[in-house]
Amino acid sequence: MGPATARQLDRLEIRNCLDLLLHLPHRWQRRTRYQPLGNLCATQECLVLGKVISSRVLPSGRRSWEVRIGDDTGTLTLRFFHYSHFQVRAVATGDWMRCFGAARPGPLGLEMIHPEYRVSKDESAPPPDAHDAPIYASTAGLSQQKIATLVRQVFSRFDRQGWPDIGFAAPLDKPAADALVLLHQPPRDTSDAALASARDRLALEELVAHLVKSIAERRQLGEADAIPLLRGRQLGRHMLRQLGFRLTEAQSEALKMILPELEQPHPMLRLLQGDVGSGKTVVAAFAALRAAENGHQAAIMAPTEMLAEQHLETFRRWFEPLGVRATLLTGAVTGNERKASLEDIRSGRSLVVVGTHALFQKDVEFDSLALVIIDEQHRFGVYQRLALKSKGLQPHQLVMTATPIPRTLAMTMYAHMDHTILGELPPGRTPVSTRLMGADRREDLIRRVGETCEGDRQAYWVCTRIEESEEEDVRDVQNTADELRKRLVGIRVEALHGRMNAGEKQALMDAFRRGEIRVLVATTVIEVGVDVPNASLMIIENPERLGLAQLHQLRGRVGRGAEASHCLLLHGSEISGTAKARLKALIESNDGFLLAEKDLQLRGEGELTGTRQSGLAPYRVADLRRDTHLLSQAHEAAKSLVAQGFEAANALQKIWVREVSDVSTV
Ligand code: ADP
Ligand code: MG
Repeated sequence: MGPATARQLDRLEIRNCLDLLLHLPHRWQRRTRYQPLGNLCATQECLVLGKVISSRVLPSGRRSWEVRIGDDTGTLTLRFFHYSHFQVRAVATGDWMRCFGAARPGPLGLEMIHPEYRVSKDESAPPPDAHDAPIYASTAGLSQQKIATLVRQVFSRFDRQGWPDIGFAAPLDKPAADALVLLHQPPRDTSDAALASARDRLALEELVAHLVKSIAERRQLGEADAIPLLRGRQLGRHMLRQLGFRLTEAQSEALKMILPELEQPHPMLRLLQGDVGSGKTVVAAFAALRAAENGHQAAIMAPTEMLAEQHLETFRRWFEPLGVRATLLTGAVTGNERKASLEDIRSGRSLVVVGTHALFQKDVEFDSLALVIIDEQHRFGVYQRLALKSKGLQPHQLVMTATPIPRTLAMTMYAHMDHTILGELPPGRTPVSTRLMGADRREDLIRRVGETCEGDRQAYWVCTRIEESEEEDVRDVQNTADELRKRLVGIRVEALHGRMNAGEKQALMDAFRRGEIRVLVATTVIEVGVDVPNASLMIIENPERLGLAQLHQLRGRVGRGAEASHCLLLHGSEISGTAKARLKALIESNDGFLLAEKDLQLRGEGELTGTRQSGLAPYRVADLRRDTHLLSQAHEAAKSLVAQGFEAANALQKIWVREVSDVSTV
């Protein structure tokens, strides 16, 4: 295999034989039967065979080569706009012509444009193919034939009985191998049902492999040692008193689960799911405080520098009166400042450390890390099992996410964790009202932003681009900010986007939080975590370009105070059907869990293959949206496999569970 092919395969995450075999076709061209010409359906791809009745080049209009073929049942026209004389000369009346393509209505009845074809001058009719042709997800330059050839080579190298060579483990070996062969090289007349069940067979095995891994991890963790964080100096009670609000029922319940677990000598591993604005930060703060009052450290990891700094500010406000010191460590903390932070962390002078994934770089040494909190976990991509150890002890872990995951999904993807849901928003919130508007309403909107900001409220104006681009109809931050400045005289409008450095972003956010900036024109950098309760209006330009979960997150930036808030979606002129359905769902519901279900249903096939990249799931074959019918079976199988000992389970994992590379934000 040449280096070019290797690169192309790498782009598809195919790095060895196993990867290749598990790169399953997503559809098959039916090529093992000839479709009689008399009963062709328009648009459906099929294989046909006929004898050439006529072949002529039409000079009039757009030059084309037209061939008519016929069988006992009817005739079909083949039309070519690109062809060579050589091709034309090779076809004579009476020859067999075998074509694959989709027929469509033409002036002379059904015709195929540029079908794939083969001519035969033999007496007897050429046979159809022995296999249906698999169609794979591919990448530029890598043909279907090339992939199929590589797959054939791999198959020929392995004796089917010797399959365990590449790792298929008993008791799941043989059927899985059969399923693979069936999917890559379906024999003549394989039914759709047989293909589907072969795929299910593999998906099931993959789910089992991941579940087994989760079970093993839970066990290991259950046996690992952690620092017990006992109820101590009642700092929690002091903090509660100065919070300025009472905990919601859901927050109290969550803490009732979390705090006793922290007292155990084994690590907690808990996923806290709560919709945008449900108040996860306070829960995290109580957990961190528990570590601090025991004299141990808590680290809070956020996906962006902006969010880390906001958390630092919040935690300092809550903790400093209690004498607990909080320190920041992000990529933006450099030089002497960084040295000082590292020293605070190493010496244990700082018991609460807030940062980005910079927290877990090699040179960061904790004095006594007892608890790790990961905020907005979904932003980090596929859940990363942190290989954290501090002096032989395993820290407790609290993982938080604001992208509610449908239950079935959560129980499978995060099977190695315990789950808590914050199913309630703090009181006094008026649901954000959401409306869709066309570009003709822009003027009204600008006026409305003006009114909002002349009162004592503030507004976000979100654009999907930073700068102007070729693409028409997509608004950008720079121009929008200029436009608003011109129109809203006397109101301070500023632009904020991901290309600014951390200091600039922070200064702008601070000024916005203090109310000096009234309108913040921003990209989706403000999507996660930003908390400015005084902002009550959000305009989102080109919402059709964003996903449902993302829109819901963005909208969660308003509606944080008691006053009624509004989110106005200013759409472009071209919206696809799916985008419309997404926006409609957003308008109709404020419930993150419901929207998450909807989002999953609305994902198209293209997006589906991207789920691995998008962090929705680490699976190669399984697709939790399609495979819900396999889940209970998978859980059962995983349990019984583990009961047989971890050996079989381990072999399975070797095949299916790819190690995820470094933590990175998506
Ligand atoms: P998220 O779950 O999205 O991270 P936050 O923790 O940022 O939500 O909380 C959103 C806002 O609600 C913050 O301003 C926070 O101070 C406030 N808040 C949290 N809990 C309560 C509560 N029990 N009562 C009133 N306000 C609360
Ligand atoms: Mg948050």
